[in-house]
Amino acid sequence: MQAKWISKKELKKLLTAWTKHYLVYAPIDNDHELAFQMVKEPARIVVDGYSNTRYPAKSLFLPQSEVLMKYDGILHSVENTEKEKILFGIRPCDAHAMQLLEHALVDVENPDLYWKQKRESAIVISKACIAPEETCFCTAVGGSPFNTADSDVLLVEMGEDYCVYVLTEKGISLCKELPDAEDTQLQAVKKLTKKVVGRMPVLLPKQELHNALMASFETEFWKDVSQSCLGCGVCTFLCPSCFCFDIVDETVRKERVRNWDTCMFRTYSLEASGHNPRPTKVERTRQRIMHKFAYWVDLIDEIGCTGCGRCVKYCPVNIDIREIAEKALHREFEGMKK
Ligand code: SF4
Ligand code: SF4
Repeated sequence: MQAKWISKKELKKLLTAWTKHYLVYAPIDNDHELAFQMVKEPARIVVDGYSNTRYPAKSLFLPQSEVLMKYDGILHSVENTEKEKILFGIRPCDAHAMQLLEHALVDVENPDLYWKQKRESAIVISKACIAPEETCFCTAVGGSPFNTADSDVLLVEMGEDYCVYVLTEKGISLCKELPDAEDTQLQAVKKLTKKVVGRMPVLLPKQELHNALMASFETEFWKDVSQSCLGCGVCTFLCPSCFCFDIVDETVRKERVRNWDTCMFRTYSLEASGHNPRPTKVERTRQRIMHKFAYWVDLIDEIGCTGCGRCVKYCPVNIDIREIAEKALHREFEGMKK
């Protein structure tokens, strides 16, 4: 890892220069709602003063709606036109989520080429969180607001400058002109890291939580925690590590399209016979939580939630995944009816 240094003014110039050679995606302010979009006017990039975008960056690699094939009697695959791009300003929790999605979409028998091509053509520049929101809990699930994993470059805002951690070959080629950070500057970054991380939630005991959730499976705990759920799906659509989709043939457009789907919808698990293994919000809420904190642990020994806090922040009825995990850990389901 290399540590470089750049002033805010110089970074803005660098961003503008990058837009001439790469497709740059960055947080853009659309009527006070930040979203990752392709940069057409570099002046509109929001560099500081935000914690996270409403939509996670996964939407650039697994779009909400994506044409997979076209057909006119026979199927035509859609040509790969991916160009090298820079994804600027993603948070460490979202970078980590992309790594989790690689397990689900790429490290499998039939890799998802649509995701893979987009992901491989991207250079990821993350930004450390120096002021995490109340809803952020990356440290509870093994992450950190300063996590360098899964990024090519990590920026840390330091007053009028940034410390630039260069983490991969892709990052080196992008930042080779920048001066090295000095020792005193790196000491200041370490101090800031300790201060911010010290205020964040402590690590959840992964295996203990997994075991508790498995033990709670058949109890009325799930009725209790899912009571107010509206089944709107916001928690999953906005989640950076959720990846469920449905594929439909649009006969008028003559296209095969992949659309985001969610396990929080009744029709998601409805079978052609009419049987539904998750007929109510009780089973659906249980599935969402178990998938994040138990099934991912079984599969890859990692929690499938990166603690971005979006599901907590945007749930219209304030269902809080942190509270459910805590309740399970405290075995509040014990004594509840089966
Ligand atoms: S966002 Fe809240 S109300 Fe909507 S499905 Fe998720 S838990 Fe239920
Ligand atoms: S489950 Fe919630 S907190 Fe965890 S990664 Fe998904 S949206 Fe973020």
